[in-house]
Amino acid sequence: MNAEELRPPRPARDVATRSPLPEGEGGVAHGRPDVEPAGARPAPPDEREGGVADRLVDSPPGGRRYAVKALWRTVQGEGVWAGRPAVFVRLAGCNLWSGYEGDRERDAARHGNACALWCDTDFTREGAVKLSADALAAEAARVGGAVRFCVLTGGEPLLQADAALVGALHAAGFTVAVETNGTQRLADAFGDGDRPDWVVCSPKLPEGALRLEACDELKLVVPDYRPAQYAAFAGRVREHGAGAARRRALWVQPEDGPRLAEATRLALDLVFEDPRWRVSVQTHKHLGVD
Ligand code: SF4
Repeated sequence: MNAEELRPPRPARDVATRSPLPEGEGGVAHGRPDVEPAGARPAPPDEREGGVADRLVDSPPGGRRYAVKALWRTVQGEGVWAGRPAVFVRLAGCNLWSGYEGDRERDAARHGNACALWCDTDFTREGAVKLSADALAAEAARVGGAVRFCVLTGGEPLLQADAALVGALHAAGFTVAVETNGTQRLADAFGDGDRPDWVVCSPKLPEGALRLEACDELKLVVPDYRPAQYAAFAGRVREHGAGAARRRALWVQPEDGPRLAEATRLALDLVFEDPRWRVSVQTHKHLGVD
């Protein structure tokens, strides 16, 4: 990797020390798992020394700018595109948690959901760089080198991503994927303009609260999110493949952390019971990459 990339924050504590954990998935945001718990804090030293915040400057005000928390080259670790080299772009902000430690319980109560209690992704705007669509696409192309697969993650990336951003990435030659919690409508984010080529949904609210019209992959992190709770939403997952092999990409992903063994057994039971679902493996962890 290029040392100048804005790397995602490193894990700051073992997942077993996160609290509280019981009701949520351990260390797995719907974007990228196992990163430093968020809060009002400065970026770690290696971020400040080599991060995009030091090297890049904000795009001039006046046009639409996107708050970019991290941008780095890696491989997609999960799902259909596991192993595919990619440029990940973490957009700041989420609608289910402010990102600050002191707001966890308030936001969990507000949304009636536990993910604010355990989420460990740093998506706050501190340290984020405000880039225009063209500047972001240019930086993704520079960091990616020959790689032209871009994954927009968060936080909740659909709070910021729009047709102009996707269009700029398309113009730079990228295939664009987005990883969303399912609470936002694609029509609201992109209108009739450029849309992501691939949509992954890892819901954190009950399916009745999901507004996402359709997606290409559905990923449920067990034990807290189970196929039976998302049976209707699974019907919105587009089929892919050829001929009789066309199928929906439905994943159950064992929760990482202290409940991994229990979660893995449950994931296996679930796919044996309903083979439309498959077990998702976080291959980037085996590779030891962010
Ligand atoms: S929806 Fe937001 S708060 Fe919840 S896990 Fe995803 S990034 Fe974290």
